[in-house]
Amino acid sequence: MTKRVIADIRAAMSQAIAAGEEVLSNGGTATDAVEATIHILEDSPHFNAGKGAVFTHDGTNSLDASFMTGHDRQAGAVAGVTNIKNPISLARALHDHSEHVMLSGQGAEDFALSRGMDTISADWFYTEGRYQSLQRVLEREAEGHSSTGAILNAPDRKYGTVGCVALDQQGNIAAGTSTGGMTNKRYDRIGDSPVIGAGTFADNASCGVSCTGHGEYFIRWAVAHDVHARMTYGGASLEEAANAVIHEVLPEVGGSGGLIALDQAGNISMPFNTPGMYRGYKRAGEEEYIEFYGE
Ligand code: ASP
Repeated sequence: MTKRVIADIRAAMSQAIAAGEEVLSNGGTATDAVEATIHILEDSPHFNAGKGAVFTHDGTNSLDASFMTGHDRQAGAVAGVTNIKNPISLARALHDHSEHVMLSGQGAEDFALSRGMDTISADWFYTEGRYQSLQRVLEREAEGHSSTGAILNAPDRKYGTVGCVALDQQGNIAAGTSTGGMTNKRYDRIGDSPVIGAGTFADNASCGVSCTGHGEYFIRWAVAHDVHARMTYGGASLEEAANAVIHEVLPEVGGSGGLIALDQAGNISMPFNTPGMYRGYKRAGEEEYIEFYGE
């Protein structure tokens, strides 16, 4: 990455953190803070969510997002949407206004229209860099690599799903995740990001979690819920639970990725088993923290 791109990514993350912090410092809800934060990341071309989402095998963009609140375990999730600018807002609308937890494809878009949300042309999601990534993966596939192998071994592969977990002044936790999924996905493949318990989870009694990584593993190992379960049933601290899943459970089976997690006491854990994970946080009255590599 050029210095310029690194500076742009850092600026977008800083802006996103500031948007969430503004909500919280004014006494707003964790729910609003998560949505405001993720909006900014979705609108930036530098992350694999909203504008900047990776491309499917067919050269389209198909977006997934989920949202959960920890005081009531309400949740909303959407998968495979193609014309919603901010999928996290659609997930939140579902969380707020529907008896259902998860909608997909056309149905999710119909729900958006029923809520008066705007749709956007699919061109909005196009970025040249992501399109070229797809071309490189397709070339590797043509050389005989498996679809997954072509993605995982591509030199420019990185997970860029965005997520946010927030704790508000009332002691409530909310978590959200938004993604374009994995480059070259096909057959309407859906990863962990919109799956409650896999890519996102929140319970005030334990923690809020948002994940990024190779979704098939995060689904099968119910990663976000596993962090909650280790705390709830095993008495683990947030740090112990998050580290056990990311550094013990997943590496043993070949699952790469990381997560961000936050508990009601304000403890933060952001482990990853990849070379880097863009991450940051801000506690009231303290400097923001943003880091890309190393733990
Ligand atoms: N977890 C996402 C998925 O499998 C990908 C990512 O985190 O970038 O769809």
